Amino acid sequence: MANTYDAAALRRADAESILHPASVAADVAANGPAGIIASGRGSTVVDVDGTELLDAVGGLWCVNAGYGRQEIGDAMAKAAGELGYFHTFTGMSNPQQIQLAEKLMGLVPDTMGRVFFGSSGSDCNDTLMKIIWYVNYLRGTPEKRKILSRRQAYHGTTIATASLTGLASFHKGFGLPLPEVIHLTAPDYFRNATPGESEEQFSARLAAELDETIRREGPETVAAMFAEPIMGAGGVIAPPKGYFEAIQPVLKAHGVFLVADEVVCGYGRLGTWFGMDSYPIRPDMIATAKGLTSGYFPLSAGFVSHEIWETLRDGSATMGAFAHGFTYAGHPVGCAAALANLAIIEREGLVDQAADTGAYLHRCLNETLADHPHVGEIRGRGLLAAVQLVEDKAERRVFDSALKTAGKVSAATKARGVLVRPLPTVDSLAMSPPLVVTRAEVDRLVGALTAAIDEVTGSAAAPLAR
Ligand code: PMP
Repeated sequence: MANTYDAAALRRADAESILHPASVAADVAANGPAGIIASGRGSTVVDVDGTELLDAVGGLWCVNAGYGRQEIGDAMAKAAGELGYFHTFTGMSNPQQIQLAEKLMGLVPDTMGRVFFGSSGSDCNDTLMKIIWYVNYLRGTPEKRKILSRRQAYHGTTIATASLTGLASFHKGFGLPLPEVIHLTAPDYFRNATPGESEEQFSARLAAELDETIRREGPETVAAMFAEPIMGAGGVIAPPKGYFEAIQPVLKAHGVFLVADEVVCGYGRLGTWFGMDSYPIRPDMIATAKGLTSGYFPLSAGFVSHEIWETLRDGSATMGAFAHGFTYAGHPVGCAAALANLAIIEREGLVDQAADTGAYLHRCLNETLADHPHVGEIRGRGLLAAVQLVEDKAERRVFDSALKTAGKVSAATKARGVLVRPLPTVDSLAMSPPLVVTRAEVDRLVGALTAAIDEVTGSAAAPLAR
C-alpha cells in the first residue's frame, strides 16, 4: 500500500489552510495534522509515512464493510460515469435512489412508511426535527414543539442537532442549546445510579423523570424524544435493563414521538441490523447514516412512520410542496455506494459476524481488563465497546479530568499500532472496528490497549504523573 505523497509538504499545507472539525485549532496550526491517512484495507489504515495502524474505531464509527472495497468504488464510478448527478426536487428521481429506497424499506420495521435521503447524520436528525414541527403544525398542534434529549447524547453539530447533543463542549461559545430542547438524565448506570439501585430501579426512576418533565412542560408543548439505542460519543452507554420498556409507555401516553438515532448502531454494528433489533425500541422515526455507505460517500437515510407519512401526504393539499431538502438528496453516486455496501454486508454475513466477533471482543476485554485496578467498567454490545478508566475502582472515582488520562491511553495505544478513540468527557476509550475485524486483530487490539493502560496508569501505588 505504498503511496507517492510528499508527507512534509502535505503537513505544511494542512497546517496553513484547514480549520479541522472537532480539533484544537492552535495545535494543528502549530504542529500540523495529527495524522494523514492515505490508504486502507480491511481494518488497517496506512498513513503517508507508510505506518500501518489497526483502526479499531472504524473511521468515526462508520467503516462497517472495512477499507479498500473496490466493489464499492466500482459501483460509485459506474454511477458517476453514467450520470454523476441529478436533483430529486420537484418529484425527480434516479434509479439508484429508487433501488436503495426499496432495499432499505425491506430492512427497517414495516411500521415505517417513507425514507428521506440526505448527506449526514446531522442533516438527517435536523430533517426529522423539522418534520416533527411540520407534522404538528399540519395536525393543528403547532405549539407542540419541545424536543427531549439526554445529557451525553450525540445527535450532530448543526444548530438544531448540536442542541440535541448533550455534551457541554458542543454548546459553549455557540449560544446553544436552542430553547426548544430539554435534556434529561443520561441512562448511564455507572455514573448516575444511586448506591444500591438496581438497573431496573434506575430505569424506573428515569421514566418517572421523563413523565414529570413532560407534565411540568405541558404535554401539549412536548413533541418528541431523540435517543440512540446505545449512546456512542457520550461514552458507549448501553441502556440499563428495562429502560426502553419503561420510557416508551410514558411517551405514548403523552403523544410524544420517539426518534431512534441509529447513526452509529445501524447497519450491523451491534450484531443486529439495527440497535432497535437489540433492544425493544418501537420508534416513530429513525435516523441512519455512517454504516449505510460504510463512510464511502456522505449519505443519510431518515425514516418516518406510516402515520407521519400520511399527515405529510394529506398536508400537501393545503401546503403545496414539502419545502425542505438538500441539493445532494438521493445522490446517485451515494445511493450506488450504499447498495454495493449493503450487498457486501449481506453476502458476507457481516451482521452475524459482528455478533460473533463482538462477543469475542467483549470476552477478551472482560478477561483481560475487568479486574484491572484502573478499569471501572467495560460497556457496549457487538462491535461497539468502551473501557471506563477510574482512579479508584471501589469508589467508581474517575481521574481528575486535567490529567487527560483517556487521551494519554489512546496515544500509548497508537504507539503500539492500534487506534482507539478517547472520550474525554467520560474518561473512556471507545472501539467500533470494521465488522470484518478478525479475532487475531481483536487480540492485538486488546493487547495494545491493556499495555497502554498499564503504561499510563502505572500501578495503584504509583499515581499518574501530570
Ligand atoms: N447521531 C449520532 C448517534 C452520531 O454518532 C453522529 C456522528 N458521530 C451523528 C448523529 C451526526 O452525524 P454526522 O457527523 O454525519 O453529521
